[in-house]
Amino acid sequence: MNEAPEGRTPVIGTLRGLGVSPGLAAGPVCRMEDASRLSGGPWTAASPAVEADTAVRALLAASLSLSALAEKAAEPEARAILEAQSFIAADPLLQESVEENVRNGMHALDAITAACARHREALVAAGGYFAERAADLDDIRNRAVAAARNLPMSALPDPGHPFVLVAEDLSPADTVALDPATVLAVVTEKGGPTSHTAILARARGVPAVVACRGARELRDGTLVAVDGALGEVRTGIGEEEAAGIMRRAAEKRDRLRTSTGPGRTADGHPVKLLLNIGSAADLGTEVAAEGVGLFRTEFLFLDRRTAPEMDEQVAAYEAVFRALPGDRVVVRTLDAGTDKPLPFLGLPEETNPALGVRGLRVARARPEVLDTQLDAIAAAARAAGVRPWVMAPMVTTVAEAADFARRARSRGIADVGAMVEVPAAALRASRLLAELDFLSVGTNDLSQYTCAVDRQHGELADLLDPWQPALLRLVAECADAGRRAGKPVGVCGEAAADPLLAPVLAGLGVTSLSMSALSVPAVREALAARTMAECEHAARSALEADGPAEARRHAG
Ligand code: PEP
Ligand code: MG
Repeated sequence: MNEAPEGRTPVIGTLRGLGVSPGLAAGPVCRMEDASRLSGGPWTAASPAVEADTAVRALLAASLSLSALAEKAAEPEARAILEAQSFIAADPLLQESVEENVRNGMHALDAITAACARHREALVAAGGYFAERAADLDDIRNRAVAAARNLPMSALPDPGHPFVLVAEDLSPADTVALDPATVLAVVTEKGGPTSHTAILARARGVPAVVACRGARELRDGTLVAVDGALGEVRTGIGEEEAAGIMRRAAEKRDRLRTSTGPGRTADGHPVKLLLNIGSAADLGTEVAAEGVGLFRTEFLFLDRRTAPEMDEQVAAYEAVFRALPGDRVVVRTLDAGTDKPLPFLGLPEETNPALGVRGLRVARARPEVLDTQLDAIAAAARAAGVRPWVMAPMVTTVAEAADFARRARSRGIADVGAMVEVPAAALRASRLLAELDFLSVGTNDLSQYTCAVDRQHGELADLLDPWQPALLRLVAECADAGRRAGKPVGVCGEAAADPLLAPVLAGLGVTSLSMSALSVPAVREALAARTMAECEHAARSALEADGPAEARRHAG
């Protein structure tokens, strides 16, 4: 455990960050040691051959530790992230670069650090999905250096009692290794709303606040109250208040565990509660949801040298259709590009992939990939006897919407829609709905394109806050268009999982909210606590606000 920094005044008052995993918790702070723990102590270099061997073994040990964690991880999100990280740690290019560094005179530790730094730079330069992996390389380096030094790979503290974990940032592996019985909440200085830490903390039900400036100034043992929805870390609380908060949090957890039923406001206005999934495996959990609001199909296409054959696709879609909870399934066609690069498409490299050929735009160069996928979805639907809704990602113009609708309908798909992830689409929502049957707002991308911030950019996370009134204004534009046309408009980005925001979205006129299974109960409860008139009032107040903090306060 770290000692409190000498001579620093203790933090008093409330620290603010981004609430990314809702829930209340209170307890003593315990700070995680940073990577400097690994730099201590001299290193006696052996022969170049031994140093190279030590370094390569250390990388492999890091890879193995990550794949072991992936195997143990209960949550599919965690498994996918850790498997990818394990794969990078075992990359022969990384090993070659370590060996080259040793040949150039470095000892094992420096060789690992330099090789990881070089790979990191290359990833940052590649942008998008690759830049997101850059932080994962820091964790790989730390694990490998720890392995070479015979130190524990994780620096997670274990003070022997429940605590609020405070860290600069948390690797996916550390987040997965957290024991929710002892880690009451997580507070990090870095990270953003769609960072791996945020996604995994939410999936594990641990309240979390990220991008919280000044958090590391908190002294070990300080009692704090953490609000993972509001993004607040409050000091100056006593034992009694802390115990009260934990009691109320436990009562709420028990209540939520048994919550069932469709999404309804207090006066019975329906707002469908749907699931975001990547495959049939995500439908194993016992969650009372009304269907699937976002089936991300790209998992089937990742790491492929050739496109998956029609039969393989039909089997994967049919498995989802047969395992459905509820009566709705919304399939999203392939969302390739930028954060989800697919080598088999053979698309040229772009300097700014987030603004390039991604989502439905891939069909300009490779229409047969989309057509085969639509054929497969239609065949799976016939086999399973379901009527899927099908939507395209990154639709920007009315012409794109019309072309997509024509392709889908010609295959017998009756309910055709689009994701609204580009401001241009939100502004033309009415015209899109003249061609389509429904819209689904992808707030993760819509935030990045509205506020012009890379969705993985931790430093600018405040601009990605889904409470930004400009983003809410675009959601309102879509919902109004839906109301006028009498067609459904849902939200399937991470914003839908925020129980404070859910009533606001309902008040804007959104007809369904789609999220990961663990978020459903809290959103159901939040909706049930307000009448539609109250939701509408909260929505109007949020739209009137000048910024996210004010929007939250007004809506609360
Ligand atoms: C979104 O952009 O909000 C969304 C749901 O799509 P993805 O996160 O898969 O890009
Ligand atoms: Mg998206």
